[in-house]
Amino acid sequence: MKAVVFNQHGGPEVLRYTDTPEPKPGPTEVLLKVKASSCNFNDIWARRGLPGMEMILPHISGSDVSGVVAEVGSAVKTVKVGDEVVVHCGLSCRECYYCTHGEEFFCRDFKIWGFQTGPLDGSHAEYCKVPSVNVIPKPKNLTHPEAATIPLVLVTVWRMLVTRAKIQPGQFVLIWGAGGGLGIMAIQVAKLFNARPIAITSGDDKLALCQRMGAEFLLNRTKQDILQEVRKITSGKRADIVFEHTGAETWPISIQCLKWGGTIVTCGATSGFDARLDIRLLWNKQQNYLGSHLGNKGELIDAMQFVETGKIKPVVGKILPLRELAHGQDLMERNAVLGKIAIIPE
Ligand code: NDP
Repeated sequence: MKAVVFNQHGGPEVLRYTDTPEPKPGPTEVLLKVKASSCNFNDIWARRGLPGMEMILPHISGSDVSGVVAEVGSAVKTVKVGDEVVVHCGLSCRECYYCTHGEEFFCRDFKIWGFQTGPLDGSHAEYCKVPSVNVIPKPKNLTHPEAATIPLVLVTVWRMLVTRAKIQPGQFVLIWGAGGGLGIMAIQVAKLFNARPIAITSGDDKLALCQRMGAEFLLNRTKQDILQEVRKITSGKRADIVFEHTGAETWPISIQCLKWGGTIVTCGATSGFDARLDIRLLWNKQQNYLGSHLGNKGELIDAMQFVETGKIKPVVGKILPLRELAHGQDLMERNAVLGKIAIIPE
């Protein structure tokens, strides 16, 4: 089959569109014919290589897919050939204390499929295989490219805002990177809970998109003083929740924009990992600093109900053929894409 493979870490140039053996499903796995995959920033971290994260190369990235079941393992009972599915990308043992308590991200075997290497390659290929327990039905109202852009970002945002930050109606939610993959979902989840999204992004086209998706307030980080604007919008109170994933460059502003007793929740650090913090703010203002990582399958199922009813919508900014995956990653690294990029095997 054709796939995009990398043998060494580096820039987009290390990605090679090449022939590679088709995966064979084990007894509890399913083989999927990939109709579409999508780009996530995690693909870029994997390609660059992360300190402390061992990777076995060569590797095929890709943590999101929408496809058709092509073959099932001998022990698979819940999925059949021909089913149209998407994937929850958390891999874990499903048997340990944490897995049985819905906390598979604490399992010793936890991996994000397609991001961390292991026995399974990811979805930027013509075929991929996953454990049958990881598949869920594709929403019928979406095309394959639309469906492929949803699960990873949606489950991550759901866990951040709903499970961790416990979002409430009326709360001001300050959202960085609001025109990107996570940000577009964060606006929609905030609206779903009748909260008040304040979208921060870098260009007029992205701001217009954020407005269409339901952002109540729009801030351009290249032209406006974010703290001053947040003060004005909230009548001096500042944000109830800050939705962070942008890291070192934005963290100090995020802290300043957070109200006393407010909650900052983060899952990433696109601009760098070493953020500065004056810890006096933490105790004086009694703020909550929460980390969040992916989400469990139950959280994805809960969130997907709102995709099926049309309350949460995909935003496919670009569709590229598989051989142009490197171009897609380059666009993401340059912040030059609206919403998500879907990838189609030719
Ligand atoms: P995208 O590229 O789709 O969006 C990121 C957005 O961040 C861009 O659109 C850009 O918006 C903004 N941004 C980039 N650099 C800066 C900066 N220096 N200051 C302010 N804004 C910036 O990426 P994703 O939404 O897919 O992922 C975002 C991050 O979250 C990544 O680091 C990713 O690894 C992480 N993540 C973590 C997960 C987890 O489970 N732990 C799961 C999913 C993602 P603009 O320039 O327009 O403001």
